[in-house]
Amino acid sequence: MKIIVPVKRVIDYNVKPRVKSDGTGVDLANVKMSMNPFDEIAVEEAIRLREKGIATEIIAVSVGPQKAQETLRTALAMGADRAILVMTDDEVEPLAVAKILKAIADEEAPGLVILGKQAIDDDCNQTGQMLAALMGRPQGTFASEVTVDGDSVTVKREVDGGLETVKLAMPAIVTTDLRLNEPRYASLPNIMKAKSKPLDNKTPADYGVDTTPRLKTLKVVEPPVRSAGIKVADVDALVAKLKELGVAE
Ligand code: AMP
Repeated sequence: MKIIVPVKRVIDYNVKPRVKSDGTGVDLANVKMSMNPFDEIAVEEAIRLREKGIATEIIAVSVGPQKAQETLRTALAMGADRAILVMTDDEVEPLAVAKILKAIADEEAPGLVILGKQAIDDDCNQTGQMLAALMGRPQGTFASEVTVDGDSVTVKREVDGGLETVKLAMPAIVTTDLRLNEPRYASLPNIMKAKSKPLDNKTPADYGVDTTPRLKTLKVVEPPVRSAGIKVADVDALVAKLKELGVAE
């Protein structure tokens, strides 16, 4: 069984994003970029399924600029078998990515596509769901446990009230939540080995997909700066202050 793992190159989660001075977007010049953290969890889960003898091949896919090759090499160094870069300098939206992934899934016929639940740059949380709809296949989103048994996969989902367990007929789409696993670090020998693993270069046109954005960003602004707090002398002063502010009676 093949597993496709889509990995997105995003601004590193440790970086504090800066808004461009003209308000047109986030400034990505000279900013550290990394694999979307939820996608690292997806790669790890796929590797564990291969280690259990359930998966036979892991294909990492990224849609993005040439530099997204580095993200794919990271996935290969973690343990993916081969990679596909679908090169575009457009800012790709979830629907375009889902259409490209659908075309790749048609060619590769995977048993599972494991995506992150969301990319931390756009926080869309849409691509997996759109892919499931386009493929007409079941989805188990926000997975905290994935168990493959024959032709089906059981997914424990993190929902508001606790955990929901769903059983899906494969091929199926799974999206990862934070508690699914702890991704491994790539070892130096594996980073070296990853350099010679196959990486295909494609374009959206190869899959007949138009990536022109459908959304227009009107304005991006920094969040408001938190105003300074004040110190009060004792509990009575605190209660008086809260009453004054109208947050206590
Ligand atoms: P989103 O719907 O944008 O929050 O992204 C959800 C997941 O879809 C991500 O965690 C990735 O697994 C996948 N994904 C989104 N955009 C891309 C992309 N440009 N290339 C590869 N995978 C992507």
